[in-house]
Amino acid sequence: MEIKEKIKLAPYTTFKIGGEAKYFGVVKDIEDLKEGVNFAKQNSLPVFILGGGSNLLISDNGFDGLVLKIENKDLVVGVLSDDLVEVVVGAGMLLDDLAYKMAKKNLWGLESLSWIPGTVGAGVVQNCGAFGVEMKDVVDWVEVFDMENGEMKRLLNKECEFGYRNSVFKKEPNWVVVRVALRLRILDDETLDRFACAREDEKQSFSPTDFSKKNPSQFIGRLSSEDERGEASSVTIAPQSSLRGVERSGTTKQSRKANLGYKGLEDLKNKKDLKVKDVRKKIIEIRGKNYPLSEGLGSAGCFFKNPIISKNEFEKLKEKFPETPFFEDGENIKIPIAWFIDQFEWKGFFEGEVGVYNKHALMLVNKGEGTCEEVKKLAQKIEKDVFEKTGLRLEREVVFV
Ligand SMILES: Cc1cc2nc3c(=O)[nH]c(=O)nc-3n(C[C@H](O)[C@H](O)[C@H](O)COP(=O)(O)OP(=O)(O)OC[C@H]3O[C@@H](n4cnc5c(N)ncnc54)[C@H](O)[C@@H]3O)c2cc1C
Repeated sequence: MEIKEKIKLAPYTTFKIGGEAKYFGVVKDIEDLKEGVNFAKQNSLPVFILGGGSNLLISDNGFDGLVLKIENKDLVVGVLSDDLVEVVVGAGMLLDDLAYKMAKKNLWGLESLSWIPGTVGAGVVQNCGAFGVEMKDVVDWVEVFDMENGEMKRLLNKECEFGYRNSVFKKEPNWVVVRVALRLRILDDETLDRFACAREDEKQSFSPTDFSKKNPSQFIGRLSSEDERGEASSVTIAPQSSLRGVERSGTTKQSRKANLGYKGLEDLKNKKDLKVKDVRKKIIEIRGKNYPLSEGLGSAGCFFKNPIISKNEFEKLKEKFPETPFFEDGENIKIPIAWFIDQFEWKGFFEGEVGVYNKHALMLVNKGEGTCEEVKKLAQKIEKDVFEKTGLRLEREVVFV
């Protein structure tokens, strides 16, 4: 792996903000990762793991260490049972590329996450989600490389401690997610037949389960042209036998029903012969209505998390703001904070190059020349205003570097 010096980070982020990395390397396989980590150890450098850069606000001073951009994108699909497949994918694949490929194969589970502009690995770290689906709903297991001791570790879904934009991986800065297994569903007989044709005798060298035990260094395959977004040829179908004995986390429900509960998707419910690509198309259509990147604006998506408060706190809040929208969240109440930011007239507010997106109050945006300091100042003003008026403390979803 080539380690470059003084690389500007802004172009590697969707916010288009950030100074230089002292050192920068692109990781295409486990050897690259080990090489990068050794280099950092030898030179006593901190390491920052970069995915698609779509949830970051990087300092104008950059990062005084080694940035490793994760780009391993190998992909294999194995048949687990009549209506369930396991997709094992390199952490560096873009989630939307995977959603696209799976839609082409008519495999259900990722369609709601279409157009999230991050990688699969970070998607797991953040437990990213949209349209009522989160990564936790499809993850079977996650493999991490521990930069401290050089060991690989596999965690089952239940060990990942997934929460709202949260997971165990956020607590473990030394862990790099290298590979993720997802459970996707087959809902129609035609797809079922196609996958049943992955014949037992077509023994391929690919066996995700065995590799983990025998030779972790082969976890990550080199990116080949086949991995580029495009024809379905990029999906390797492993024979059923290769996935036998896989430890099941049992978290993915098998049900022959698509998830269409979310607002805006209702009209698909009555569509005959509904395909994954139909839902994906609809989701892209909805997202396209307020997607800053399509308008040439820099952004890291939702800047703040929706606060989760107790029912008592909610009652108090309602005394002052009877119209407050909310969602039940177990024992608690989740407040869609965009509503308040909008009420307090921040939506569309700009200070120089940075501002609040005029179509989505949770997104801070950069016209192009904005700086990290400007974004931070704006964020602080919004946080102060919301706190003074409502008592709600805003937590940032975006990662500060
Ligand atoms: C226009 C827009 C729309 C968005 N919509 C959504 C949405 O609907 N739902 C949603 O949840 N998010 C959304 N996001 C936010 C963002 O896309 C997600 O949080 C995504 O998961 C971040 O992935 P990334 O690869 O870009 O991570 P990065 O921004 O590169 O990194 C985020 C964090 O993950 C860590 N990380 C990255 N890769 C790894 C790895 N392999 N191992 C360990 N740590 C790693 C980084 O160190 C960093 O701490 C949106 C962002 C934008 C710009």
